[in-house]
Amino acid sequence: APVIGVLALQGDVREHLIALAAADAVARPVRRPEELAELDGLVLPGGESTTISKLAVLFGVMEPLRARVAAGMPVYGTCAGMIMLADKILDPRSGQETIGGIDMIVRRNAFGRQNESFEAAVDVKGIEGDPVEGVFIRAPWVESVGAGAEVLAEHAGHVVAVRQGNVLATSFHPELTGDHRVHSLFVDMVRANRTAESL
Ligand code: GLN
Repeated sequence: APVIGVLALQGDVREHLIALAAADAVARPVRRPEELAELDGLVLPGGESTTISKLAVLFGVMEPLRARVAAGMPVYGTCAGMIMLADKILDPRSGQETIGGIDMIVRRNAFGRQNESFEAAVDVKGIEGDPVEGVFIRAPWVESVGAGAEVLAEHAGHVVAVRQGNVLATSFHPELTGDHRVHSLFVDMVRANRTAESL
């Protein structure tokens, strides 16, 4: 089974570990640069993107993460994790950096404040059957996407799921729902990348 890390600096790490295990991956929390080398793929959890950014710099993993993503390691980010994967943030807080990987501009907290969090059925390209239950918690939306990025889902006229090559991002949190189809989609991306690398 592919080994998939969950960046464990801040955020809902545990929920992703459980969802990845349910999607037949070997999942482990990672926070040190040397731990990245052993991974076939990585998840960036939801949480607070400024905090994750600052801790990533502090722990010395920001540059190694950029290098691994640029080298093609599959990565999936939810919510704050989506923000970390955007090449550009519309409204960054001071000192806030991203890893990048998707040619898109995100707007933080776009759907409103914490008490305006909501759930909505979302049709995600590549996921069969019922729509995914999208849990949006102070979620970002994607303001614009570049030519290389594929829109996988929209909600209320805003882009909420995007894929560019091996990088996947959703505004919402499938790890909180018990529905592992988005994680399975990501595990499939990781498997396909492992096969391609071994050819
Ligand atoms: N609003 C948070 C941020 O800007 C993201 C919220 C979340 O991950 N649920 O990082």
